Amino acid sequence: MSESPSAPAAADSSDDVRNVIIVGSGPAGLTAAIYTARASLDPLIIEGEPSSTSDQPGGQLMLTTEVENFPGFPDGVMGPELMSSFRAQAARFGAEILTAKVTRLDLSAQPFGVWVGGDDGEPTYRARSVIIATGASSLMLGLESERRLLGHGLSTCATCDGFFFRDQDICVVGGGDSALEEAMFLSRFARTVTVIHRREELRASRIMQDRAMANEKISFLWNNVVEDIVGDDKVEGVVTRDLVSGDVVTQPFTGVFVAIGHRPNTDLFADQLALEDNGYLRTFDGTSRTSLDGVFACGDVQDHWYRQAITAAGSGCMAAIDAERWLESHGH
Ligand code: NAP
Repeated sequence: MSESPSAPAAADSSDDVRNVIIVGSGPAGLTAAIYTARASLDPLIIEGEPSSTSDQPGGQLMLTTEVENFPGFPDGVMGPELMSSFRAQAARFGAEILTAKVTRLDLSAQPFGVWVGGDDGEPTYRARSVIIATGASSLMLGLESERRLLGHGLSTCATCDGFFFRDQDICVVGGGDSALEEAMFLSRFARTVTVIHRREELRASRIMQDRAMANEKISFLWNNVVEDIVGDDKVEGVVTRDLVSGDVVTQPFTGVFVAIGHRPNTDLFADQLALEDNGYLRTFDGTSRTSLDGVFACGDVQDHWYRQAITAAGSGCMAAIDAERWLESHGH
């Protein structure tokens, strides 16, 4: 895309203005922190704060167990351990890490305003550039058992975890392109893959439907919803309710992949920056530039397609370099 970003109104540039504030601490935000710290930009990274077991600083890898596809770890690495290494590396180069949630962002004038712990009065911080790395959240079914079993047989990422389900009977919940893509990927490993969908018609594109239906390992459980996932410390079964007959059955699946969509975390700035039609933050010309001069984005908040830790980290590096060059070109 080739529109150029619009410039926010200029204002003062006093000493307490940070060069760069990074919002979000997944692989994208922390990689941006490592690069901007090594470029002597004294970044402040506002990493979020834990509000539940499924909402923690560090992004989606904090909710996974073993990561086997992050280059550099031939024996695999636990998701939280990997993020802790990212964080230590950023801190080693002097990135300041604040455990707090950003409550308001004002991108309408330079320097940008960043609030934590409230949203009135003077901004808590001001910054010449902002790197947004707030990620995306997988939509979940809302079951209590999901919190317990995420990373223990329950997953939201087939590419990440499919390998662990070799020769098992597993299920995928959802009826869109993601669900069918996950099911087809999982069919390489699993013995059987059952797609559980709440209607009797898929939302997925025709071509994906045709492929999934031609796959001998994949079957469909129509008009069914998941009422519970059974197991104390690993998935042992799934309780389904048939919306037509009313039958409630416990199915003996040992793996569950929830694929009912993702939501980019854009609440803080959705009314200030251009978004794509699907709600993801828009970046321009294959860079991390957003629709506002001095605001950059990386990771899953601007990527609905790849959604991998390694691609998020790569885009964090891009955002750091873009911010550094932008600051330099503006005399900072
Ligand atoms: P989606 O198209 O929104 O589909 C979500 C699916 O989950 C729907 O079938 C929906 O059921 C179901 N669902 C939603 N909430 C549910 C709940 N609480 N309980 C049970 N089922 C629920 O999301 P997506 O599949 O992630 O796709 C997002 C976008 O990315 C789409 O535009 C898609 O085409 C695109 N995409 C493309 C590809 C590809 O082309 N290879 C791959 C992945 C994604 P209903 O149908 O009843 O609403």
